[in-house]
Amino acid sequence: MNQLIRNSVEKLSAYTPGEQPKDRTVVKLNTNENPYPPSPAVMENLASATADDLRRYPDPTSKKLCEKIAELHNCSVENVLASNGSDEVLSLCAAAFVENNGIISSFDPSYSLYPVLAAIRDVKYKPVALSESFGWQEPEHDEASLFYLTNPNAPTGLLFPKEKTHAFCQKFRGVVLMDEAYVDFASENSMNFATEFDNVIVARTLSKSYSLAGIRLGYAVGSVALIEALSKIRDSYNVNYLTQKLGLAALSDRDYHRATIEKIKATRSRLSKQLEECNFTVIPSEANFVWAKPNLEDAEVIFNALREKNVFVRYFPGIITGDYLRITVGTDEQIDRFFEALQTINKRRDK
Ligand code: PMP
Repeated sequence: MNQLIRNSVEKLSAYTPGEQPKDRTVVKLNTNENPYPPSPAVMENLASATADDLRRYPDPTSKKLCEKIAELHNCSVENVLASNGSDEVLSLCAAAFVENNGIISSFDPSYSLYPVLAAIRDVKYKPVALSESFGWQEPEHDEASLFYLTNPNAPTGLLFPKEKTHAFCQKFRGVVLMDEAYVDFASENSMNFATEFDNVIVARTLSKSYSLAGIRLGYAVGSVALIEALSKIRDSYNVNYLTQKLGLAALSDRDYHRATIEKIKATRSRLSKQLEECNFTVIPSEANFVWAKPNLEDAEVIFNALREKNVFVRYFPGIITGDYLRITVGTDEQIDRFFEALQTINKRRDK
């Protein structure tokens, strides 16, 4: 029999998403979800959906949603593409902008999906090592066709300075995908690059700051030519009816969005400070998670001990990342429970 599966797919190690436990009592600080509910307007819109709405196909162009996004970012609707989570934008970029002999690049460490997207396309992936403190390192791989630039970076939460990213976008000859999944929690963003440069796409998501990871909605903003290219190869109905309707409601409630972000930022300060008091080295975070290194104990040991106590955080094994834990900013009550669990672990160690 012929080989049924492409070699590259057979060899592929798939992306590993964070664990989604069925038990809702788990203190879940492992996947950067927002601990607060989405805007009440979202739930009202959900309740008003009819059987007839669900019977029909959705608007293939997500027009109302894209108009709202264009209004928010002061650009034209032709500069916008709505997507099935921002992961879809990342994947479409790999499909649209990289030839079969091309190269995809990103910083290391960064979002662990990027090398998987390169492997799916069966093209070379060239990581650019960050400095020891995870700060900006000028990329030298300018032969790459696509650079995924996450800002703030994940899993570190560190924001790269805008003058560095701006100069890089100017110099880079391929497409720069600015992945701004966490930017709503940061002190600055690069949305203006999307219309300033012909080779830049900015990707955003409603999964984090809008508390809507479950409906899978993201979007891309960029030059008309790049957006048209992505649109040509996407599924015709890539954003389902409910997601378009609920996403529009969430994007329209600016006050609620702002208030949720402020709560998360306040808890982030408290979490960072308290971690330092518990002898962790904390990387200054501009995201809804904190990247921290326990100085007295092995990160993996703490990760497992927390897990036993029903507190889930994220651990990425590996030489660069294996000394750290990534802790999502939860509610203040969740952070209380995190520190209670940590204290029991420390007491056990100090006995
Ligand atoms: N980019 C980064 C850096 C992320 O951490 C995530 C979430 N895992 C995404 C993009 C994807 O977000 P979503 O597909 O939920 O919009």
